[in-house]
Amino acid sequence: MEKMLLNNVDKPNSEKISTYISGGGYKSLEAALKKEPEKLIETVKASGLRGRGGAGFPTGLKWSFIPKDPTLAKYLVCNADEGEPGTFKDRVIIEKDPHLLIEGMIISSYAIGGATSYIYIRGEFVQGTKILEEAIKEAYEKGYLGKNILGSKFSHDMHVHRGFGAYICGEETALLESLEGLRGQPRKKPPFPALAGLYAKPTVINNVETLSCIPAIVSKGADWFKGIGPEKSPGTKLFCVSGHVEKPGTVELPMGTPLREIIYDHCGGIKGGKKIKAIVPGGVSAPILMPSYLDIAMDFDTLAAKKTMLGSGAIVVMDETTCMVKVAYIVNRFFSHESCGKCTPCREGTAWLTQVLKRIEYGKGKKSDIKLLDEVCDNIFGNTFCPLGDGAVMALRGFLHNFRDEFEYHIERKECMV
Ligand code: SF4
Repeated sequence: MEKMLLNNVDKPNSEKISTYISGGGYKSLEAALKKEPEKLIETVKASGLRGRGGAGFPTGLKWSFIPKDPTLAKYLVCNADEGEPGTFKDRVIIEKDPHLLIEGMIISSYAIGGATSYIYIRGEFVQGTKILEEAIKEAYEKGYLGKNILGSKFSHDMHVHRGFGAYICGEETALLESLEGLRGQPRKKPPFPALAGLYAKPTVINNVETLSCIPAIVSKGADWFKGIGPEKSPGTKLFCVSGHVEKPGTVELPMGTPLREIIYDHCGGIKGGKKIKAIVPGGVSAPILMPSYLDIAMDFDTLAAKKTMLGSGAIVVMDETTCMVKVAYIVNRFFSHESCGKCTPCREGTAWLTQVLKRIEYGKGKKSDIKLLDEVCDNIFGNTFCPLGDGAVMALRGFLHNFRDEFEYHIERKECMV
């Protein structure tokens, strides 16, 4: 399969503009600047590209919501916050092929008529920030950023903004608040960012991987992209695989590749030849899958039909020695810690869940605790301001539904089943 995202990452000095240009980089920008912006939006729409950050919203459609009024300032914001546990795919592009992202962002900004763009990068990505800043400097020096790019009428400035390590700032409106220098908490929607986003101006927010698909779509065409993977979830996807596998890492494969193929053919199978117990298919907010689902196609719609999600494409594999009570406790503790505190069901509810899970894990659980967990989940789900609360509940319900016997065993025997 022809790669489009990890083409350059293994080359020496892959982060340098000279390496990128020698591999054909910035040719898509040249081609894009000769087209009308509306045509580019149509091409991205026709490609069927869906957002790789987790929601899977059609990218071209998102761009088309931006008002056409040329007197309005418009912004593109790249979500490089990558905070979902188990996710490390965007980091590969940022550190190994930053110009792929930068080229995708310039083209996308031209399409929506944006004179300024921002990369909101996770605070912990210190190295990635330095690499991006250097790459942006190189792009200015070569005339790919700044005034009248490549002799065209299009001018564009790009900035990197480091976050401060809050998971919630991966949520697009909390990200915008943080970018404006405010406390990173989600905004009420509507208005949606396409009409009133950064500084209350029309704003497109796209993930790193999504924007990095744009140069290939421009150079190879919408039909080429649509020809890879399932019709409704086309293109390649970066899957980042961790946990009990022989070769953890990031792999680029067609969307819809079976989970078994990803784990066994590309990641070396289960460590020590043990059995799989459960798999997180798309970051820890995604309800777990049991081994009976190993042949599932990894794409947005197939996973949604099984009441889980592709999310960020972060696959966490757990073998037969894993205590699911402990995993549920650790995952919930993460959500409780990262709750921004804006709404009560999430702030209080995730804290209660963590307390109850902690006492079960440490041998102090009560017989009534599983019912209590169910009740607290019911009170959180559907009652929170943003998806974090629901994500915490969906993850926990997945553990309770599939491993209730382990929770009961922990409460009765005060020890792990495994
Ligand atoms: Fe904040 Fe949680 Fe409410 Fe989201 S659901 S706004 S993270 S408290």
